[in-house]
Amino acid sequence: MEENFKEKEVPSEQAPANQTKSKNNLNRRQFLLSSLGIGVATAVGATIGVNPFTKPEEALAEGTEKSIPLIVHDNMPIEIAKDYKRFNQKNTIFCRFGYDPEIMSIGKTFSEKFHGVVPPSGEPGFTETDAAVALAAWSVDHEFATNSEFGVPNQGLYAWEGPINQRKPGVKDAEDGTSKIKKAAKFLGASLVGIADYDDRWVYSEFFNPFTGENSSPEFSFEPKHVIVMAIEMDYESFLTAPTLLESAAAGLAYSHMAETAHKVATFIRQLGYQAIPCGNDTAISPALGVQAGLGELGRNGLLITPQYGPRVRLCKVFTDMPMNADKPITFGVERFCETCMKCADSCPSKAISRDKKPSMQQGPSISNNPGVRKWAINPEKCFKFWSENGGDCGSCIASCPYNKLDVWHHELARTMAGTPAAPMLRSMDDLFGFGKVNDTQEIKDWWKKDTKY
Ligand code: SF4
Ligand code: SF4
Repeated sequence: MEENFKEKEVPSEQAPANQTKSKNNLNRRQFLLSSLGIGVATAVGATIGVNPFTKPEEALAEGTEKSIPLIVHDNMPIEIAKDYKRFNQKNTIFCRFGYDPEIMSIGKTFSEKFHGVVPPSGEPGFTETDAAVALAAWSVDHEFATNSEFGVPNQGLYAWEGPINQRKPGVKDAEDGTSKIKKAAKFLGASLVGIADYDDRWVYSEFFNPFTGENSSPEFSFEPKHVIVMAIEMDYESFLTAPTLLESAAAGLAYSHMAETAHKVATFIRQLGYQAIPCGNDTAISPALGVQAGLGELGRNGLLITPQYGPRVRLCKVFTDMPMNADKPITFGVERFCETCMKCADSCPSKAISRDKKPSMQQGPSISNNPGVRKWAINPEKCFKFWSENGGDCGSCIASCPYNKLDVWHHELARTMAGTPAAPMLRSMDDLFGFGKVNDTQEIKDWWKKDTKY
């Protein structure tokens, strides 16, 4: 699976601005490694498949506070069935909201609480003020990209058509297009940007609008060549309050930013004279595109795990015919780490996350799982049922994930130990150093007093 890999690094400048790395990180790392009696070079080689005697120094240099070593693949680093069939959007949990009696009932309760029709409970994290800030954060998405979170395409900020500059200034070539789009997307709001070649396997076989009950075919008005996949970081401290409405506020803010950013990037492309289709959750399966675009790996929690922010991102994308070069997929040891970590599964209030040791090609527990891709499948019915009881989305599987907070000593340790008998200790160390807190009462109490970067 690790075909023709070579290593590249993520520069430290890509670290989240609100996360300062402690000066004693290296000491912790050295202490832990030495106390476990593990030779770093040997273990790194064992973990990532690199002969420890050919590249140990390079691997170690990259594993310092300055960078994160990655393995770059020529093809998707996930096994995909030869007879893989495109997924019908109608089977997603949010579309079943439109026709499946059980999910309709859950969805109605969720929607009434989520939109403030039913007053919040008044518990910490669920006050009227918390609900107000959550609705404010979601407001751009709700008012200008209505129902995009349910996967409804081609409306509001995600409109598929927009004025195209008829002077068609264009870009010089694919290299020029790549650098222009990456700079513009970051400037316009993306935290991370990757480019995938257009691959119709990830486009839904049929679209379904749960509010109108209409099916439609995914027909583009042009032939897309690439998909620009953008990750929007969500606020770290708000996620420590998961599953409260303060976490929902952080998710909502990201949804609002997704719509704005995808719209602006599509406008930039159209102003260069090319075609662009901006998308949120709609049209195609975002985590698969995120992997293909080199933004990260799939985790046990079913989410894209990025090296920079872990799963604490939301994804939007833009299909286009603008010339550019695709990025290559990456891995950095997530699957091996997930095998023993289980923090998301333990923290999930609805027990929706698989505890299987290995990912699999099987269907998963629900028609809302997409078979034919090797991954851990979550149970979306259980998850959505909890959301409706909770009165907001949850996010505990994001907050609890050790990759959520960038801390390079931890990543290095994970890579080092993942393939060794000491791997089960990784999770305990994460707890020991206070990472991955969920429903933290102090954080909930302090949320309104703390400044944020937004
Ligand atoms: S969002 Fe919450 S309920 Fe759903 S899978 Fe994640 S932790 Fe479980
Ligand atoms: S919490 Fe642990 S098991 Fe879950 S996705 Fe993150 S690393 Fe993997």
